[in-house]
Formats: sequence, C-alpha cells, structure tokens
Amino acid sequence: LYVEHPLGQGQTIPLSRDQAHYLFGVMRQGVGDAVLLFNGRDGEWRAEVAEAGKRSGTLVCEAQTTPQRDPPDLWLLFAPIKKARTDFIVEKAAEMGAARIVPVQTDFTNSERIRQDRLQAHAVEAAEQCGGTFVPEVTGLQKLDTLLTNWPEERQLMFCDEALAGAGATLRAAGGERWAILIGPEGGFSETERTRLSALPFAHPVSLGPRILRADTAAVAALTVWQQALGD
Ligand code: SAM
Repeated sequence: LYVEHPLGQGQTIPLSRDQAHYLFGVMRQGVGDAVLLFNGRDGEWRAEVAEAGKRSGTLVCEAQTTPQRDPPDLWLLFAPIKKARTDFIVEKAAEMGAARIVPVQTDFTNSERIRQDRLQAHAVEAAEQCGGTFVPEVTGLQKLDTLLTNWPEERQLMFCDEALAGAGATLRAAGGERWAILIGPEGGFSETERTRLSALPFAHPVSLGPRILRADTAAVAALTVWQQALGD
C-alpha cells in the first residue's frame, strides 16, 4: 500500500478514508493483520493494523522488509494521445522503471490537455502493483522545444524516429548514465523537429524495427530496448 507518511520503526500511519475502505472493506483486513507499505523513499515496511474503522484506521510500522531501491535515472518523454492510451503509457513506464514521465507538446501533438494528478495516481497504482519501492514523478505538459533548449548537461536522448523504421539504427551506450527516451505523437515528428533533433549532440536516433508502431506500443518497445541495453 502506498502512503505519503515517513516510514520507520514504531511509526504510526493514519489511513485516509479510501485506504481504510480498501484495507478493511475490500481486503477484509482487521486489527493485528500485517500490511506492506511503501512511500517511494523509505523502502518497504511491514506494518500492523492497530485500529480499523469504516472510514479511518491506523497502522504501526514494525520492520523494513526491503531497502529503498531507486531505478536508473531514466526519463520517458512522450506526446500525449487519447486518454486511455496515455494512461496506458504512464502505467507501463512506471512498471518498466522510468524515474520521470514527461508529457511533451510537439508540433503534431493532438492532445494538449492532460490531468497530471490522474496520471500521477496511475503511476502510484502501477508501482503498488509491481511491488516497487519507487514512484516515478509525472510532470505537467512541457513544450519539446523548451525542453531541448534547456536540456540538462550529460543526459543522453534516445530519439525514437519512425522515419528510421527498418534502417537498423540501434541504441548504443554512449557513456553517461542519465538518459531520456522520446516518443512522438500519432502524427510523428515534423521535419523541423527531426532536423533539429538529428543535429543535437546528445540525441541518438533509434529505430524500433521495420514496422511503424502505435505511440503506446512504441513507448513500451523503447523502454524494453533501453532496459536491455543499459538498464541494471
Ligand atoms: N504518423 C507516423 C507515420 O506514419 O510515419 C507514425 C508515428 S508513430 C504512430 C508514433 C511514434 O512512435 C513515433 O513518433 C516514434 O517516436 C515512435 N515509433 C513508432 N514506430 C517506430 C519505429 N519503427 N522506429 C522508431 N520509432 C517509432
């Protein structure tokens, strides 16, 4: 269960109404039962239910079961698409170990509004489901142009370019541990973006195979390729 509270020996964790409903109503837990907790910072802890009400409850932390483990410093930049597919991308990126998820506005981005809180909640759920101790940060929508202009030093960019489909452009470790993956929108990248990206020293154009993948498939494929080549 994800909580925001700090976790430590003897720490008391008050539950929200939704958490109490989930634990005691849905999961049928009660006083004395053990619950595994994480907050994205302090690893995983075993806690015991001390009070169980219909709309509230308290847990007490007993012992750490897994130390905190942060994923490699990988960002996923993607142009948001239809709501359900955007949710899918965030969920899969969280499962596959992205540390930061950045929706980007490109020349052909078709969805210009995102619900950051909703996407962040999906990232939390995905982390809960795959037993991770880390929750990636989902940022607000950012312009690709601005991101590239203020690009952080020493971060490499895996630029997934559909124009290279079948060109055999593979990912090569280019030194440095910090990476970002860039996935374009349904309409792909504009020629202006492609020209700019191809000239940037930190951008590495990569093909994801001979077929043009849908953006959500491309995101999962790119994360797999990156994890295979450079993940730990
Ligand atoms: N409308 C574009 C076209 O027909 O050429 C396709 C865009 S594709 C649906 C969305 C994004 O997925 C692309 O911008 C790219 O980042 C990524 N992508 C899809 N297939 C790819 C491939 N074979 N190689 C590299 N990137 C790919």
